[in-house]
Amino acid sequence: MIKSNNFCIVLSSPSGAGKTTISKKLLKIDKFISLSVSCTTRPKRKGEIHKKDYLFLSDKEFSNLIKKNKFLEYAEVFGFKYGTLKKTIITFFEKNKDVLFDIDWQGFQQLKQSKMDVVGIFILPPSKKELVNRLKTRGRDTNTEMKKRMNLVQNEISHFPEYDYVVINKDINICVKQIKNIIESERLKRPRLNNLTNFVDKFRS
Ligand code: 5GP
Repeated sequence: MIKSNNFCIVLSSPSGAGKTTISKKLLKIDKFISLSVSCTTRPKRKGEIHKKDYLFLSDKEFSNLIKKNKFLEYAEVFGFKYGTLKKTIITFFEKNKDVLFDIDWQGFQQLKQSKMDVVGIFILPPSKKELVNRLKTRGRDTNTEMKKRMNLVQNEISHFPEYDYVVINKDINICVKQIKNIIESERLKRPRLNNLTNFVDKFRS
């Protein structure tokens, strides 16, 4: 386990629920959050940038990192490997940042098992129809990839009860506001306020 006073915020959702846009908006309005950039063996999509969107690695590079125990969590999603490097999280915690993870349910479970301080938020699309529309208009996936994703949507959604919070993304701005409120409330939870004893002691004298 990596020890820190900061915590991990996991956003999971089926493809097309708006997770990437939500993450970007959250990072803009909350300067105490940093985004964990994952490693993946998936090919780069148009417009994606190495080290900004993902660290795009070969299968061999990814396997070597597994062997060296460098991952905090990793999983196979849609036939490609995805993982979070321990180093990434340690760096952010050292800078006193809370860390935002855009990872799937498998990664979330691994973080919980590793006893990290983690808050899980599941984002649901407003309806199946809307989800299909979003996937189609996004147009960044090939037809085969798109079919594969639709089949896996059901599986991903079935994991929502494992999360601490569920937010429905009907209106992106409301959704971001709700997530921001969750994060602010989580920061005020007593066990996370580690300097509180000193602060309260001062009222005694
Ligand atoms: P995409 O290929 O669309 O960027 O991501 C596909 C899925 O992989 C998404 O559900 C995303 O949340 C998940 N994912 C991205 N990075 C990681 C990671 O580091 N670990 C895990 N477990 N899942 C990830």
